[in-house]
Amino acid sequence: SVSAVRTRTLPSGDEIPALGQGTWFMGDDSRQRDDEIQALRLGLDLGMSLIDTAEMYGGGAAEELVGEAIAGRRDRVFLVSKVLPSNASKKGVISACERSLRRLGTDRLDLYLLHWRGGTPLAETLEGFAALTEAGKIRHWGVSNFDVADMDELLSLPGGSAVQTNQVLYNLMRRGIEWDLLPWARKRGLPIMAYSPIEQGRILHNPGLQSVAERHDATAAQVAIAWLLRQDGVVAIPKAGTPKHVEANRGALDLCLTDADLDTLDQVFPPPRGKKPLEII
Ligand code: NDP
Repeated sequence: SVSAVRTRTLPSGDEIPALGQGTWFMGDDSRQRDDEIQALRLGLDLGMSLIDTAEMYGGGAAEELVGEAIAGRRDRVFLVSKVLPSNASKKGVISACERSLRRLGTDRLDLYLLHWRGGTPLAETLEGFAALTEAGKIRHWGVSNFDVADMDELLSLPGGSAVQTNQVLYNLMRRGIEWDLLPWARKRGLPIMAYSPIEQGRILHNPGLQSVAERHDATAAQVAIAWLLRQDGVVAIPKAGTPKHVEANRGALDLCLTDADLDTLDQVFPPPRGKKPLEII
């Protein structure tokens, strides 16, 4: 039997798994479709019940694939999607959400994020989120790729404090948020969703990471994910297109890094020593 998946608590009180599943690039290649659907379903079976998608991914193709993967088990999924900044006016966000719901084959999202900041005043997007919440089409909303100044501005707006998360680039190679954004979020009880937790695969060949993995008879991907999961208030959403990778990623929850491991990783991937603007992929 597998251990229960550790959870994080949103400001709303909802518990979400610390390890979820990303979907960028899923649905792009028809030859991989079956594997991707099986991967997402296995992830759900293993307790990785948060699925992260976006209207942007494949121009809707990823949402359609997710819809197929979760058909018949919608109630057991914490479903996250995102609106493009170009659709972030009050009216735009409402119709974008309705299109996403249609592709996903559901009547509500658990969490709807503004994918990144664009030209639309935040207050207008918040009005759209409020209307969608009122209509029961989204349960909660949040943001993505917001730096500290953006978060401060958001919280100064009417209704802004209802934000549930900020989804940002965070992994061993991208530790900038440890300087300010991560402590900012912790102080306010706001979980951070770490995207590209294994740097889209680019981190896997790092010798330092591999040496830590060898100590545990684990893989570099598992160490990179475990390093995120050990931190309070951090959710990781690796994208795995095969059942084999999903199973490996689930295994990262059972991997306990030692102080010596953490020291090694700090040497190879130094923490920030000052403010760095938020990085984005
Ligand atoms: P990840 O860091 O999750 O890396 C994905 C890559 O790693 C894929 O090539 C995958 O291969 C491979 N991989 C996954 N698991 C393993 C494993 N156990 N061993 C070896 N290789 C593995 O990158 P993403 O950019 O996809 O980030 C994750 C998710 O975060 C996205 O899918 C998306 O949902 C979200 N995101 C959000 C952004 C935002 O702006 N809000 C920006 C970027 C991402 P394979 O597919 O073959 O399994």
